[in-house]
Amino acid sequence: MLYVVATPIGNLKDITLRALEALKEVDFILCEDTRVTRNLLNHYEINKKMISYHHHTDEKKMAEIVELIRNNKVALVTDAGTPGINDPGGILIKALKQEYKNIKIQEYKNKDEEDIRVVPIPGPCAAIAALSVSGFPTDEFLFKGFVPHKKGRQTFLKEVLGAEMTVVFYESCHRIIKCLEEIKTLMSADKNTDERGYREKELVIGRELTKKFETIYRGKIQEVLERVKSDPVKGEYVIIIH
Ligand code: SAM
Repeated sequence: MLYVVATPIGNLKDITLRALEALKEVDFILCEDTRVTRNLLNHYEINKKMISYHHHTDEKKMAEIVELIRNNKVALVTDAGTPGINDPGGILIKALKQEYKNIKIQEYKNKDEEDIRVVPIPGPCAAIAALSVSGFPTDEFLFKGFVPHKKGRQTFLKEVLGAEMTVVFYESCHRIIKCLEEIKTLMSADKNTDERGYREKELVIGRELTKKFETIYRGKIQEVLERVKSDPVKGEYVIIIH
């Protein structure tokens, strides 16, 4: 059995009672960076064996983890927020479901063998936290994950700007200024200056949400760019474009 447990995106108090119960109940906790998760567990005086699971976990280790989940109660957490939302969580769930399919294909002897239960324990998510304070329409929105570092960057940004709904995505502090400058350039290249034009689009940027230096920047691209530049450019960012 696998509990997919959302953990804080900064403020350690942002954890649900169910999440704490699950972390106390399980035999093992799969986590991205054991130091980050240890900090959380220490805060809540939870002492559990942690097993690291991340983007670079190889196939052999993955098979061991699947076996572990089959025979134990396991929790999956990531460094921040909801596992599976633009982090390695999704790959593990896919592997579990694939494993179940394989079992069925091989006509597994034990007819009582059930699908491995995967139980969500919902909670914080950086994209949703930022959207919740954006004031932008959220009846439909597009979540785009991280801006690609190199290849596909321009296509990604053009798609974001061309979307006819609120778009939310992540960018690292190392490229946030570059990203906003690129958005500005693409916006200036847009000939359409009426109210549906790129240039009129509003942005909200959530920096270090729920943390000590939480900042929410709102406005048109030039305003937001200047304000982001004038603050220390560090921490974590979510960008939303209306
Ligand atoms: N699964 C996570 C979630 O539910 O939020 C997202 C994982 S993604 C690998 C990590 C990215 O989320 C960071 O690089 C940053 O863009 C964003 N993020 C995480 N915590 C944040 C915070 N406190 N404030 C702003 N953005 C944050």
